[in-house]
Amino acid sequence: MDCIFCQIIAGEIPSHKIYEDEDFFVMLDINPVNLGHALILPKKHFRNLLDMPDKLLKKQGPLIKKIALAVKDATGADGINIGWNNEPAAGQLIFHSHVHIIPRFRNDGFKHWRGKNKPLNEELVEIARNLMKKLIM
Ligand code: 5GP
Ligand code: ZN
Repeated sequence: MDCIFCQIIAGEIPSHKIYEDEDFFVMLDINPVNLGHALILPKKHFRNLLDMPDKLLKKQGPLIKKIALAVKDATGADGINIGWNNEPAAGQLIFHSHVHIIPRFRNDGFKHWRGKNKPLNEELVEIARNLMKKLIM
């Protein structure tokens, strides 16, 4: 398959690997937000969160915490952002699932997006009702 992250995991393309276990491969991002920015990849190819099996996601949760703590300790970061872009509309550029672990520093100049909508109460009630219907199915 023509997937750059699969090629990195297979060792065909070099990377700065920082951790590996039977299911996951963790490396530094080539273009970090801040130095220490790491990416957690499942070794098997999945497109993103939406097609990853629950069994693998259960293993990934504790690994996110482990890598976040290591990145925070190693960089002296004041905080950590966890990012996961799923599908192009959400900014996904590489279509092999990867969770971003981003060290953040007070006054590092990066800003979060701001909410642009002020929904009406009825809109919130309707979307909450629709979501709850999906979640009990
Ligand atoms: P996305 O927008 O898909 O969530 O992010 C893709 C990320 O992969 C970007 O942060 C980008 O810097 C990183 N990236 C792209 N190509 C490579 C590569 O060849 N090696 C590494 N280590 N990171 C890459
Ligand atoms: Zn892949």
